[in-house]
This record gives sequence, structure tokens and C-alpha cells, in this order.
Amino acid sequence: MSETIVVLGYELHLTTNLSITDDPSAGVSGLTSALLLSRDKRNTITVVAKHMPGDLDGEYASPFAGANVMPMATSDESQWERETWAELKRLCQEAPAAGIHFQKCQVHSRSKDISKDSDVPKGPFDTDPWFKDMFDDFRALPQDKVLPGCDAASEFTSVCINTAIYLPWLVGQLLENDVRLKRGVVSDIREAKGLSHTGRPATLIINATGLGSYKLGGVKDTQMYPARGQVVVVRNEVDSMLFVSGTEDGANEALYAMNRAAGGGAILGGTFEAGTWDTQPDPSTALRIMSRIVKARPEIAGGKGVAGLSVVRHAAGLRPYRHGGARVEAEKMDDTTTVVHNYGHGGWGYQGSYGCAKSVVEIVRKVREGRTRAKL
Ligand code: FAD
Repeated sequence: MSETIVVLGYELHLTTNLSITDDPSAGVSGLTSALLLSRDKRNTITVVAKHMPGDLDGEYASPFAGANVMPMATSDESQWERETWAELKRLCQEAPAAGIHFQKCQVHSRSKDISKDSDVPKGPFDTDPWFKDMFDDFRALPQDKVLPGCDAASEFTSVCINTAIYLPWLVGQLLENDVRLKRGVVSDIREAKGLSHTGRPATLIINATGLGSYKLGGVKDTQMYPARGQVVVVRNEVDSMLFVSGTEDGANEALYAMNRAAGGGAILGGTFEAGTWDTQPDPSTALRIMSRIVKARPEIAGGKGVAGLSVVRHAAGLRPYRHGGARVEAEKMDDTTTVVHNYGHGGWGYQGSYGCAKSVVEIVRKVREGRTRAKL
């Protein structure tokens, strides 16, 4: 049976409001969902999104991400990140045009941050994490390599994705697979049914609208909330990725830095402010972010402190979090159309993108089987 899909929303994974022949979304969630769905030639796919790669807007999380892989799931829910890691590693080795490179990642934790009540995720700072067997070279660092003020540290080889290259690369992959992309703003998910470029009604709509699902008619998921993240993009480089679980500057501030592939500069972070919708970068926060990194890694600025940093831009994006976790499931819209939701990936949208998109493909397979059975 052929499917007309609209993918709504355009993110690193196929997260926009869309259907597999009718799907509005252009973030990493929507794009990745569309990519995997487009490998089945029975699917005719239209990606519809308000924002597309190249746009920088507070309603569009994907361009603001670092983006690296530093797992955030619990062990029980690690499947999406495990599956994605395998694919990102393969792309890193075999697809240089995707703009992903390997980089050592150091994680330093302070015991007091693990127990304190703050918005900063705790999972990545577990000293005995489930992901120690996911990375080939995970190791605990000896005490003399642990940053002053921290209690433990680990190191492993991860990847960093230059989102400015990767998102357009995903679009290129879709175009090669005959997926159509167009701009569109929908106020209700039911509108996506009429957005396929074929003119036929969509039989499947993939809702990958990220934080947009909070106010999208027909969805209005009040479990969604933003976790604001302010960053500074600089031309300077760091030797390895660095993450520290907390700072003395405020409960919802952390310290991180990573180099982006192919001239992307380094991203310095950051903040983790749950419930904050403001996307204006705050100058004093920016100064704290820069001061922390030049203290922890003076070599990044040639020992010149903040004055030695060459700033490309200050930015603040909204991580699309959801109480209860990401929503990846089917919902019948009417007799002929099913919505497959894929949103609410918080701070792990890239590092879970392929795993979640695989789940979308599996859900679509089941929907198709159900329809075929019903016709017999
Ligand atoms: P989005 O990227 O927000 O895309 C949603 C799409 O839906 C957009 O195209 C939008 O225009 C469209 N849309 C929404 N509503 C409508 C509508 N009504 N009509 C039409 N279109 C609509 N993740 C990682 O994995 N690793 C990291 O290191 C990392 N670092 C981060 C750092 C920061 C500062 C931030 C802010 C995020 C970070 N993330 C990271 C998280 C990651 O960016 C998100 O999880 C991911 O981008 C979410 O993608 P998405 O496609 O679900 O949503």
C-alpha cells in the first residue's frame, strides 16, 4: 500500500508537523524521520515547516544546538540514543559532507550538583553511567586530571555535529530521495492533511513540531515546556569537549565547550533554564559563560582571558522538553489519516534523532499492516 505523508516541522530529526506523505516539520526530528521514511519508495513525502535550515528563530531549536553526543537518557530508555550513536559514528566515518567529526569529550562532575535541585540534566554526570559500554574508549580520569573543585571525571570519544552544515546536508539527502519541502504554517494539525504536494490527502502526518506542539491546534500538549540555553559561538578552538556539572554562578548554569567540524568555531555554554521562553541573549550571562571557560581552559584564548575570545555571535535557544519524556506514538485522526508524533526531545534531539526516526518508521509499518488487514 502506498502512503502520502506530510512531515510537519523541520529539525534535526523529523520533528515538524508532517505526515509520511503529509508531514510538516523541518527540524532535526522531522528531517531525520523524513529521511528514513523516504528510503521506502512506497512513501510520497512532503515536508512542511515554518522554519527551514538557514533560519535562526527562537521557535526553531535545531540550529542552536552544539551539537554533540553526551547521553541523557536513563539506562531503561537508552535505546534511542544507542541506535543514533551507531549511525552518527558511521556518518562521521563515511560521510564527511555531513559536517560531523570525532572529538574527545571530558566530563567533570561535582557531587553536590548531582543531588541538588536544578534544571541541569544529571544523567551525563553519573560516575558509573550506562553509556560507558557504548563508547569504545570510555575511561575514568585519574584524580590529577580532575578539574579543581570537581570530584570525578571521565573521558571518551564522542562526535560534534556542525548543525549549520548537517541540517542542509539532511535536506540534500531528502531531495535526492524525491522528498518535497515547502514552507507552511499550520494552526491545527488537521490542516496538514491537505498539504501534500501531490494534491492527495495525506494518509500519514508526522508531527515533528518540537515546542510548537504546545500551541498547535489538535495537539496542544501542555506537558511541553522550554529549557532555555544561552551560548556563545567563538572562532577560538578547544582541544577537547569539556562539560562540568555545575558552577558557583547559579543553579541553572553549567560549563561546556565543543569544537564544531569544518570551520564551525567553538560553542561555549551554557544555561539550562526550565520554563523560560525568552530568547534574547543576556549580556551578563554571556560574560559568565566566557569567564568560566577561560578559567577552566586558559589556552582557548591564548592566556588572554575573555579579551582573547573572538565572538561570532551570542544566542539563546529553547530545548523542547516534555514532562513524561518524548512523545513518539501514533494517534488516529480520522478513518483515513493517522498522525505519528515525534516531538519533545529536550536537550537530546540530535543524539536521539535516528533512534526516534526508526521508531517512527516502525509505527508507520504497523499502521500500514493494520490498514491492509482491514481491507482483506
Ligand atoms: P525544532 O528544531 O524546534 O523544529 C521544529 C520544526 O517545526 C521547525 O521547523 C518549526 O518551524 C516547525 N513548526 C513548529 N510549529 C509549526 C507549525 N505550527 N507549522 C509549521 N511548522 C511548525 N541536542 C543534542 O542532541 N545535542 C546537543 O548537544 C544539544 N545541544 C543543545 C544546545 C542548545 C543551546 C539547545 C537550545 C538545544 C540543544 N539540543 C541538543 C537539543 C536539540 O537542539 C533539540 O532537541 C532538537 O533540535 C529538537 O528538534 P525538533 O526537530 O524536535 O524541533
